[in-house]
Amino acid sequence: MKSAESLETIALELKNLSTEYSRRSWARYTTGLDFGVNEAYEKIVDLLKNKSHWDTIQNLAGIVSDPAEARKLQIMENTFKPFHLSDGLNKLALDIQQLTSKLSSVLNSHRCSVNGKQITSPDMEKILSSSPDREFRKAVFLSRSQVSRPLVDTGFLDLVAMRKEYALKTGASDFVRYSLKEQELNPEMCTPWRDELKLILPLMQQTRSDFAGGITGSEHVMPWDETFIASSIAPELNSSVDMAGFLSPIDALFERFGFDISTMNITYDVFPRKNKSEWGYNFTIEMGTDSRILANVRDRFSDFGVLLHETGHAVHSFASNPGQIILNRGISGIVSEGIANLFGSFRTRKVFYSQFFQSDDTPGNFKKLNKWSRACQLRALGRIFFDQALYTAELKSLDDINELYWNNTRDLFQEEPYADQPVWANTIHYTTHPIYLHNYLLGDLTCDMLEDVFLRKESLTDMMQKPEAFGSFVKEEVIDASGRYPFPELFKRISGEDLSLSFLTSRIIRELQN
Ligand SMILES: [Zn+2]
Repeated sequence: MKSAESLETIALELKNLSTEYSRRSWARYTTGLDFGVNEAYEKIVDLLKNKSHWDTIQNLAGIVSDPAEARKLQIMENTFKPFHLSDGLNKLALDIQQLTSKLSSVLNSHRCSVNGKQITSPDMEKILSSSPDREFRKAVFLSRSQVSRPLVDTGFLDLVAMRKEYALKTGASDFVRYSLKEQELNPEMCTPWRDELKLILPLMQQTRSDFAGGITGSEHVMPWDETFIASSIAPELNSSVDMAGFLSPIDALFERFGFDISTMNITYDVFPRKNKSEWGYNFTIEMGTDSRILANVRDRFSDFGVLLHETGHAVHSFASNPGQIILNRGISGIVSEGIANLFGSFRTRKVFYSQFFQSDDTPGNFKKLNKWSRACQLRALGRIFFDQALYTAELKSLDDINELYWNNTRDLFQEEPYADQPVWANTIHYTTHPIYLHNYLLGDLTCDMLEDVFLRKESLTDMMQKPEAFGSFVKEEVIDASGRYPFPELFKRISGEDLSLSFLTSRIIRELQN
């Protein structure tokens, strides 16, 4: 069919422009240098605005009947539609992108100071996880709020206002609902989560207090205690490792599941540097062709969490079919973060840590650590709901944002302010990836679901009894299928159940009561 061919041609053109944009973004995040990120984005918008491409897509709507082709059409329609509503919206989209890019540079080049001395993110993590001096940990943790003022002064509130305006102009009732719908999720999805949390909160808090009491001497877990508690439970996390050889243990892990990363074109930039972003990222420059990992590690075993997570993203990209240009655009953020979290979670599983530790205590330590992590898992709702609240509240100043933060924490966890200024702006997602944080939590939920389904299907008690079969299961059931269905449909196809947070909460309850 001629028009189906032209759909693929348009998608290829879009992919090439996106590849160029990703390359320039990568350069900006690793070096702080701008080789024309905005110009590359403008070219994408120009293509998306193209009237004749939009006509091609719309003309196909009446004649496509095959479900696979209809899905492709739906993905392309979702991609192009917002750029054919009004000129004002297209201008706003460009303005939003430019301001996002400017603010991301503020975040990427900012460095926190403690007692007048600059400190890098891995050094900060090291202090937070190993210093028994609680006041010092508090000072280090709170230094993360230093970036709030410059971020707001450079225009964070304008960015939020522009996103709100954008959503309203598309006809949506607010930016949160607009974004969830864009992600093919139910806009009401998060509504029952608050009640769900209320039910499980006493058990979460009790478990956290039980762990904390013996470690910090206080049953109140403060934000600067969390990583310290984790590494007191499993001191292996703080063990120093030779990061010059970081790739071999990662390679060995993925090989167990049948993924050979030596054949994949993955670039790693893993050590801290001036002007480099302090976060961990995988830039999928081009699906199945070029993947680049940015991280900031030093010399601790716990640093493998981010390296495994980002390598998980890269393996996902290389295990996907690069020829499916349109379907690859339809892969949900939940699938991406779910697969990345799945591999990230192997840091505390024997198949990975046994490459470093052989002590008899280690399995017990990591078992306890996993229980602690379960008790903290729904703390993620704090960031998810704060991010959403930014778009439903009336905000005029940094004080308003701070107030919103405290109200959110009080409302969800019944906790009072822990300082004059809360720590929020350093979470880059609020700036660059709004209404995205739910992907990590639902990604975790998806990992649990996948493991359950696999074990049931194969009648096993541990996936490591058949690791290669698990690798194939993930590839066939998830990776190969992921672009073909909106996420809730994919979830139901694999698990037979509707996507709901209660799947995760019931699991947390089971593990905490154990
Ligand atoms: Zn990720």
